[in-house]
Amino acid sequence: MKLYYDLHLHSCLSPCGSDEMTPGDLAAMCALAGLDVVALTDHNTCGNCAPFCRAAQAHGLLALPGMELCTQEDIHVVCLFPGLEEAGRFQRHVAEHLAPFANDPEIFGRQLYMDEADRVLGEEERMLAGSTDLPLEEVPALVSSFGGFAFPAHIDRSSYSLLGVLGLWDPSLGFPLAELSHRCPPEFTSRPDLAGVRFVTDSDAHYLDQVWGAEHSMEVPERTPQAVLAWLAGREKSETA
Ligand SMILES: [Zn+2]
Ligand SMILES: [Zn+2]
Repeated sequence: MKLYYDLHLHSCLSPCGSDEMTPGDLAAMCALAGLDVVALTDHNTCGNCAPFCRAAQAHGLLALPGMELCTQEDIHVVCLFPGLEEAGRFQRHVAEHLAPFANDPEIFGRQLYMDEADRVLGEEERMLAGSTDLPLEEVPALVSSFGGFAFPAHIDRSSYSLLGVLGLWDPSLGFPLAELSHRCPPEFTSRPDLAGVRFVTDSDAHYLDQVWGAEHSMEVPERTPQAVLAWLAGREKSETA
């Protein structure tokens, strides 16, 4: 079956995410946009994934918990998990590797925990958007050990991206798939170092009006997180639009 996806979305728990990106409103916007499968990927946390997944499911969407991990090298990597239990364990691991800085809400923005009814449950005081001390080369196996799948985020962007930091795609890192930003020029993927790499395109929305309509799809045999993760990993016959 064909599922329209957006697997990189931020909530109000990301300091750079708008306070309007509540789990409930974000899920409603994804449903309005005609998406089928969505993932919440706040910076270095899965803290709003439970309410987001519940709200998305209430709208009939398939929702995966996720995180946009920032590595030691300041490279962003989208990490997706089959369920909240795996995501929660991964988050606890990442929390031990996050630089111990306090957030300044005046400068960076608030980091709000909310429930699916959009009630504020609290505010995270640690700065979530900094880097961890987790090296990029360890991320694929690390995320896999928690049952998840990881791919480098927005590789066509100059900052916080694998190509922006390393300059070249290194196949030995073991990522079969990379994310392109929606502004990526079509010729970008013909770079010789990207031969054989598969791509997804996500919105990386930080504001409600950045959630797109259904544009990019995957072909999966069933509507489950496992099938989505298998498609991303290239373990299923695939097709992109
Ligand atoms: Zn990013
Ligand atoms: Zn992002």
